[in-house]
Amino acid sequence: MSEAHVTVENKSVAREHGYRGILFVISSPSGGGKGTLIRRILASVPGLGYSVSWTTRAQRPGERDGVDYHFVSVEEFEEIRERGGFLEWAVVHGNLYGSARHVVEQELAEGRDIVLEIDVQGAASVRASMNSVVSIFILPPSFEVLRERLTARMTERPDALALRLLNARGEVEHYREFDYVLLNDKVERAASQLASIVYAERARRERQEWLARRVVETFPHSSPVE
Ligand code: 5GP
Repeated sequence: MSEAHVTVENKSVAREHGYRGILFVISSPSGGGKGTLIRRILASVPGLGYSVSWTTRAQRPGERDGVDYHFVSVEEFEEIRERGGFLEWAVVHGNLYGSARHVVEQELAEGRDIVLEIDVQGAASVRASMNSVVSIFILPPSFEVLRERLTARMTERPDALALRLLNARGEVEHYREFDYVLLNDKVERAASQLASIVYAERARRERQEWLARRVVETFPHSSPVE
């Protein structure tokens, strides 16, 4: 053992010991407030990455290509899908959405934790295809609050807004399939609860094995008491 102390920051050592990042999947109905919560934890929790999705949905004012989404045509999306470029993809509210396979796999292999903000169908396919996914469902406090939030943000045309509200019940019923359910009543409280989930998952014994073993190795073996 060369180092005097073992620290959690030492991710390169973690990688040598086969440590992989944690894949966090976060879903909620449209207007559930997951975007705000995710922005908060990305800013406050160190070592957490985000996978920017691909979509055929029209870009909204204020959205940045390559930052909020990679905005592509249906043809471009299908071309990526045909060559297996998506870890998961789904039709959501009439548009195509998908997560880039290589981004997720590379981050995890490098020992970095990553957040996917995807719908309930995408969450189900990720659970089916990946080991040790941590899934979190964000619930708005009520349908009424969801409706108000969606209407107030004015990002959808009336027909698209109506479709999202119509689909909301079908989405919230999927909360049962998730490891964690988080009520987004107050943003501060919900954001700190979300950060707590990330920290608690990192501290799970099976994910700390490499670290614990190194710490234990710094201790001399006890000799029998004379
Ligand atoms: P929005 O159009 O409001 O940005 O997103 C609509 C829905 O698509 C949200 O539920 C969002 O989580 C979901 N979504 C965004 N990116 C992806 C993705 O890569 N895959 C899947 N399956 N859903 C996504």
